[in-house]
Amino acid sequence: MTLEKKGARCIDRLGRVVIPSGVRKDLGLESGTYVEFFVDYQQNCVIIKKYNDACALCGSNSGLVEMDGKYLCKGCVDKISGLG
Ligand SMILES: [Zn+2]
Repeated sequence: MTLEKKGARCIDRLGRVVIPSGVRKDLGLESGTYVEFFVDYQQNCVIIKKYNDACALCGSNSGLVEMDGKYLCKGCVDKISGLG
C-alpha cells in the first residue's frame, strides 16, 4: 500500500474531522456516504475507506442505514415505511 499525504486537519472537540474536499471529490465521498475505519496501532495510523456495501434493495451506496446487519438507503427505508 502506498500512502500519499493529502493535507492536515484538526479534530474538533466532538472528535470530528473534515476530509479535504479534493480527497472527497477524488473518491466520490459525498454527504451520506458510509466510510469504515481501519487502525494500525503500531504505526499510529487511521485509514478511512469508502464503505463498499450498498443498499440491499436498490444498490445505492448513499445514505445507508444498518438494519440487522444489512444496509438500506433512506429512499428504500421511506418506501418500506410507507407500506405499513
Ligand atoms: Zn435503496
